[in-house]
Amino acid sequence: MGEDGDPGGTGRSLLAAIRKALGLSTLTWWEEAGVGRWRLVAREGEARPGDPAEGEVTEDLGVAAAAMTQKRALRLDPNPPRALRVPGNPRAVPLAGAAAIPIEGGLFWADRREASLSDRDLEALVDGALGLAGLRGLTRDLAESRRVAEGLGQTVEGARALLAAHSEETCLRLLAEAAARLTGASLALVCTVGPSDEEGIVRAQIGAEALSGVRFPLDRGLVGVALRSGTVVPTSLTRSGSRDREVLGGDRDLDLDPGDALMVMPIGSPESLGALVLARGVFRWGASMHGIRTLCDVAALLVRQFRLRDQVALDALRDGLTGLYNRKALMSLLSEWTAFAVRHRVPLALLMIDADHFKAVNDRHGHPVGDRVLRMIADTVRATLRESDLAGRYGGEEFAVVLPHTDLEGARQVAERIRRGCEGVHLPLPTGPLAVTVSIGVTTLKPGMRRPEDLVGQADEALYRAKAEGRNRVVCRR
Ligand code: GH3
Ligand code: MG
Ligand code: MG
Repeated sequence: MGEDGDPGGTGRSLLAAIRKALGLSTLTWWEEAGVGRWRLVAREGEARPGDPAEGEVTEDLGVAAAAMTQKRALRLDPNPPRALRVPGNPRAVPLAGAAAIPIEGGLFWADRREASLSDRDLEALVDGALGLAGLRGLTRDLAESRRVAEGLGQTVEGARALLAAHSEETCLRLLAEAAARLTGASLALVCTVGPSDEEGIVRAQIGAEALSGVRFPLDRGLVGVALRSGTVVPTSLTRSGSRDREVLGGDRDLDLDPGDALMVMPIGSPESLGALVLARGVFRWGASMHGIRTLCDVAALLVRQFRLRDQVALDALRDGLTGLYNRKALMSLLSEWTAFAVRHRVPLALLMIDADHFKAVNDRHGHPVGDRVLRMIADTVRATLRESDLAGRYGGEEFAVVLPHTDLEGARQVAERIRRGCEGVHLPLPTGPLAVTVSIGVTTLKPGMRRPEDLVGQADEALYRAKAEGRNRVVCRR
């Protein structure tokens, strides 16, 4: 006997044996397929006009409906024979005897055209039906055990693959793959919260059409619900209960049919960092759900670890006071850009920025005010630059800016914007607003230059001249 609507070899031969022993015209076996819906599992005997095929679903059990409402086996003995409505057939069939036997989650129907059914026939039918139902239950239990064991193996395998990941991207992709494999879902998405708290972003996908990178609001779709509640949604594990609900809730969403199996599981608890979306698979509460939850937990743990690691790495590159690159990071980036510019013959510029008379600021207003001024200068530099430009704190009150793909004139303009920006910013102090100017030396990579130190040397020279010529100015090294 097979699973899920297939009576299998043993079940079918039992049905055939019962039919033959009792001389039945037809013996059918129905299984509940949702509330008030019945699927024909198997038919032995003749198919009459209007009879459904195996696998078909009906909502009309005909006269057998009475047996279901009364929850007991029912024998019909029309004398003389007359037309009766048999399950699933809109046309009445002339019969001399019939019986409907409710079983756990299903129904057996037996009928005879020529002769009525005796009490003993009914007893035999009830025994046969119970035996078959029991056999089916047993097969189901066996299949379930096999599924659990298989799921356990897949969970361990998936977790092992996850643990070998070295980045958040890989980890999320492997989670999507493992969860899809475990559930047979043909569609899997992994979303994370961010960039803001009100937004989600699709980070990995299997089977969905190009949703990777799509951003969506967390206040509309099922993903948002799962994240807020910290539980799996929808609780029906199909979309039918949430027909009008979007999964992501943004401009782009999954293209699902109302009856498609669907589940959204938060990743990580109690605080979720994202959600796993699975669709069009076999989702069951119990063992396989446990497996997916395990995978999500492993992924959450790893992602948190990667984020911490990246944060630490980032901190090591940053200057604590201003948030710009520190000298070491900036020099390493300058070194890489110099090699790139030499190799590909593209322009590269460097600015050296130094606060004017900064010692006096410290002396007059104290170190903390000096620090605020340094942050102000850093903010002005940051605000002036493009995303591809690199700014760092080179030393105490000295800053450096690497401008890839920028020639001398372009660099001069950037420097002038920074100079004017700093000049225009005033720090409000009890003693009155404080303005600090900067001097800037500008240089570019010249033919024959290969080392980043050469660039720094030339920019320094230009800066020295800017100081000598009166400060608060930009000087270019041609
Ligand atoms: P110049 O216009 O020639 O550059 O004059 P200057 O006073 O800016 O130059 P100088 O090199 O004589 O002084 C730099 C000062 O910057 C000395 C030091 O106290 C101050 N400084 C260096 N690092 C920091 C810092 O992190 N915070 C503060 N508040 N001051 C700093
Ligand atoms: Mg200095
Ligand atoms: Mg200075």
